[in-house]
Amino acid sequence: MSGFGPDLPAFAEVMPGVRRLVAPNPSMMTGPGTNTYLLGEQEIAVLDPGPALPEHIDNIIARAGAPIRWILATHTHPDHSPGVRLLAKQTAAEVLGMPAPDGRHQDRTFRPGRVLADGDELRTDEFCLQAIHTPGHASNHLCYRHEAHELLFTGDHIIDGSTVVIDPPDGNMKQYIDSLRRCRALACAALAPGHGDIVPDPARAIDWIIDHRLQREAKVLAAMQANPGLSARELVPHVYQDVDPELYGWAERSLLAHLEKIEEEGLRP
Ligand SMILES: [Zn+2]
Repeated sequence: MSGFGPDLPAFAEVMPGVRRLVAPNPSMMTGPGTNTYLLGEQEIAVLDPGPALPEHIDNIIARAGAPIRWILATHTHPDHSPGVRLLAKQTAAEVLGMPAPDGRHQDRTFRPGRVLADGDELRTDEFCLQAIHTPGHASNHLCYRHEAHELLFTGDHIIDGSTVVIDPPDGNMKQYIDSLRRCRALACAALAPGHGDIVPDPARAIDWIIDHRLQREAKVLAAMQANPGLSARELVPHVYQDVDPELYGWAERSLLAHLEKIEEEGLRP
């Protein structure tokens, strides 16, 4: 029991050849902890080794039970990729992903040996993963589609049990919603998020998120109209009545992301 978000076992086989380890970093922002996925049985790919926690890295190696050949990251926030360097040092595995952009909350130790672009594949004897570039939560965010299982690893693009922070300028609300629509069009059977449990009905989950974001945008527009001249910070209590005031700092970041989208689309009242 982490006390944060959905209760997850520390280790589980979520589908044949897909195992999930939860990193011991539970918090308000990471839920039960960051999910690390182990793909394959003869040769292993590790997706999102999480923060640089030696006991978690040792646990990944022990659970793998076979050579770790590849390490992938969905993005370079501090709860997803800093473990890559530790794991790569111990396994000599190839590192794949997109390098960290400039800005805060980025892991600059992440250095992919193979820089992925949208559509690139990692094809092994046991599985094929396709990289889907999904900017929005982070500009370098990749989801990965497991071909045989029609399973989409969603990192922080879509998480189980809560909404994700869109923190400008690297976070971008318009791109986020566009990327969600793109994921919906992939027609996957399930989502394997970076935090929380498997999401069994992707279309329904994605529709809910898009709807939720657009409803929030409508609230922003209404608040701007009713209270002309207020700053983003001053607008927060008018838009996030349902949010604990302790989280207003994060709410303000998301509100800024909405304001950027509103400007970009010429919707300002
Ligand atoms: Zn993130």
